[in-house]
Amino acid sequence: MTLQDSHISLAHGNGGRYMRELIDEVFARHLSNGTLDTSADSVALSLPNEQIMFTTDGFTVQPLEFPGGSIGSLAVHGTTNDLAVSGADPLYLSLNAFIEEGFEVAQLERIVADLGQAASEIGVSVAAGDTKVLPRGHGGGIYLATTGIGVFRHPGKLAMSEVREGDILLVSGPIGDHGISVMLAREQFGLRGEIRSDAASVLPLTKALRSVPGVRFMRDPTRGGLVSVAHEIARATGLEITLEEAAIPVRPAVHTVCDMLGYDPYYLACEGRVVAVVAPDAAKSALSAWKSLAGGADAAIIGELHATRRLGPVSLKTEIGGLRFLEELEDDPLPRIC
Ligand code: MG
Repeated sequence: MTLQDSHISLAHGNGGRYMRELIDEVFARHLSNGTLDTSADSVALSLPNEQIMFTTDGFTVQPLEFPGGSIGSLAVHGTTNDLAVSGADPLYLSLNAFIEEGFEVAQLERIVADLGQAASEIGVSVAAGDTKVLPRGHGGGIYLATTGIGVFRHPGKLAMSEVREGDILLVSGPIGDHGISVMLAREQFGLRGEIRSDAASVLPLTKALRSVPGVRFMRDPTRGGLVSVAHEIARATGLEITLEEAAIPVRPAVHTVCDMLGYDPYYLACEGRVVAVVAPDAAKSALSAWKSLAGGADAAIIGELHATRRLGPVSLKTEIGGLRFLEELEDDPLPRIC
């Protein structure tokens, strides 16, 4: 049984029968698990007696569906990936949906189904939720916010404070796919690419590094891309980062679109990649741990941290042997990509 109405109306947010039907027939139907109780004001969570990790994120991506994902799967991957790169196994999510009056119920169903599938693939339960309906013109169709709870499972400390001079940077796969696929899906350039978003859970990648001693820090290069993560590490450690242009994986199609439209792939968002900083003697083991996974086949060692100040905090050794200063991002090259 699905909702009888084809579009969301303000009545779906009024606390009465329409809202109950929306929650039961769209949200609960796709998200049902042992924990979610749509009739309760709050739920009891069973948490192990270990370090609990907590994070939250909001999602406003346009378009709402794009090759390789949707705002629904992104709301799961974005929040659970922040737990994963912190060394945690995600356990529970809360979900807030802000839906605009007039939004098509069929699209809402696809988005919520996508969200439910992404959650069940990771083994995370949506344990609590809320829906609000905004008057027409007051929302971009739908906004989502997810809060995640996980349990820390990495064998050692993971923090920028662990990073040392001489450490090595790795990336788990090609960069820029998400930013370019979402941008092309907007059709504003009349280009229809075959580039799919890399949006995915990075949990298999972060779990694989638990058996590698010497992993110092991990982060997912989302908004602002690889360069922004590099700047964050450089700022926190006082070290300089040199990236090797020839080593950084970028798909040829992403390169082509970037060249045509003047984007720099190093600043574009990924939603399924990990940047790791590891001790020099851990780099090869970390790389082979990633390469043995489907999601890490194109992983690469891409740079190192050192104390010598040359151009600035983050520089790129170009393929022709020059050194290019990669400045910190100022203007957002692609707004609303997550
Ligand atoms: Mg993050």
